Amino acid sequence: MSIYLDNQAAKPVDDRVISEMMLYFNEKFANPASLHCDGDVATDILEKSREKIANFVNASNSSDILFTSGATESNNLGIIGAAMRQKNKGNHIIISEIEHISILNIGKYLEKEGFRVSRLAVDRFGGIRLDKLEKLITDETILISISTASNEVGTLQPTAEISKIAQEKGVLFHTDAVSSESVIPIDVQEVPIDLITLSSNDIYGPRGVGALYLKKGVRVNPIIIGGGQERGMRSGSENVPGIVGFAKAAEIAKEEMPKESEKLKILRDKLIKNVLDTIPKSYLNGHPEKRLPHNAHFRFDYIEGESLILTLKEHNIAAATGSACSSKTLEPSHTLIAMGLLHEEAHGSLLVSLGRTTRESDIDHLLEVLPDQVKRLRKLSPLTPSDLLKKYEEVK
Ligand code: PMP
Repeated sequence: MSIYLDNQAAKPVDDRVISEMMLYFNEKFANPASLHCDGDVATDILEKSREKIANFVNASNSSDILFTSGATESNNLGIIGAAMRQKNKGNHIIISEIEHISILNIGKYLEKEGFRVSRLAVDRFGGIRLDKLEKLITDETILISISTASNEVGTLQPTAEISKIAQEKGVLFHTDAVSSESVIPIDVQEVPIDLITLSSNDIYGPRGVGALYLKKGVRVNPIIIGGGQERGMRSGSENVPGIVGFAKAAEIAKEEMPKESEKLKILRDKLIKNVLDTIPKSYLNGHPEKRLPHNAHFRFDYIEGESLILTLKEHNIAAATGSACSSKTLEPSHTLIAMGLLHEEAHGSLLVSLGRTTRESDIDHLLEVLPDQVKRLRKLSPLTPSDLLKKYEEVK
């Protein structure tokens, strides 16, 4: 196994979660919809798990939680489902320019369906401007969807303020909380967001499970039609083992988050400081303070992020370039472009995302390898200016 620093793309499932799930594959495997005793056992654990997810976001009612197959589905159900439900009130939706690709593509889909979708611009740190958001809202606006944090550069968005504006204007507010849910607590009593996308894997649960939190009274039109499970809003037999794992992961995350986030912040800051201190012409993308505790997103002049990732791969280090979810495309990151970076600047980016299993020695190893590899690639690059090459020669 490599030194794994790509935790925003996938996280390992916690051993405690795996232990909890095992029973529900071949012993207590019944369908919660069945009326027999085994079905009752499945219903019981399904509802207990729902309570744990409700507790994770501090919701007072477990019926506020709908289980889905993951974040993409929750985003679809939350945004398309709410848009369709509110269609008679208006046809305008606001997202930001730097949403996860699943949300950007939902925006395109809704445009084809006759909705008007505005894409809120961000500043050079990747933060939205509240005054610009307010200006975009019209009588036709029915939904705002802005993620709690950028899944690329890690900038945190002012969700409490967005929620306040949305409430004042009578507009629903959906947030994709996937990037931040493992490190920043969600409290719907404190910030009454209407719809929240959650993913199991992002809190060290199994993949293929997620949830949509719906504030009391908020309903969405189903996008999957079938047997009417999940209060009729998401049909299909529930993935009980996955949901049990998700609930256990949520329980652990709630308990351990304060300590874990603190540890991650210390490691992240050590990494950022050392990279910026030791590598000339290196920059931090995203906000210097208002950022995810486990995210460090760098940019290096004169080199390609892809070459850097492959070089790190040779040194047994797993990191990501651009966006953690779609780094196989060679297009520059839409987030970095929206933040005002030039194409060539956006191409030289490296995303290092830390997690529960990250140790200080992993960061030390990266810090040992990275400066030399950046230097090596720059020596090969026709873009590197001669004064920098000369400097490299001097310190050889
Ligand atoms: N939203 C965000 C912020 C993400 O980072 C991701 C990918 N991890 C998704 C949605 C989509 O998740 P999934 O592929 O598990 O459906």
